[in-house]
Amino acid sequence: MELPIFKYHPDPIGTGAIEKTEDECQCCGTRRGYKAASTIYAAESAETICPWCIADGSAATKFNGVFSDSDPLLTDGIDQEIVKEVCERTPSFISWQQERWLSHCNDACEFHGDATKADLDTLAGDALKEFLSTEYIEEDNWPNMLVNYEEDDDLAIYKFKCRVCGENRFYVDYS
Ligand SMILES: [Zn+2]
Ligand SMILES: [Zn+2]
Repeated sequence: MELPIFKYHPDPIGTGAIEKTEDECQCCGTRRGYKAASTIYAAESAETICPWCIADGSAATKFNGVFSDSDPLLTDGIDQEIVKEVCERTPSFISWQQERWLSHCNDACEFHGDATKADLDTLAGDALKEFLSTEYIEEDNWPNMLVNYEEDDDLAIYKFKCRVCGENRFYVDYS
């Protein structure tokens, strides 16, 4: 069975957000073979939620919870319907700090997991300046951070992509 399509998280297997499991989904009670790697933020915790129950919103409804914090998107002025789709019907990702879903061009961005060094190398000009100032990184420190950057390290840089203009967006997460 093919995994559901998540508009804002196009490759959840690749990012590690969806993983294989033998366990039953606590929402639909079925063994679907896959589950979300991160749990839902809800009063009652659920360890195993299948991608189908995320996609159709049934897990968010059943557990009355969300997969991602809606504050960053709401602060950016993103439309409520988009925020609901990202936070209630899209698998989130595991981060050290509270995860932050980025937006651009009045839309939520697609999440693409850990940025590769090659992704970061493409950051230049205004995009780089904006990134450094948003992340409170001194311009002088950036070359060194870039040289030492490794995926899955204590310092994570996540990659998002704007669905409207195609620009890559990044944010830094420290352990
Ligand atoms: Zn399910
Ligand atoms: Zn854009």
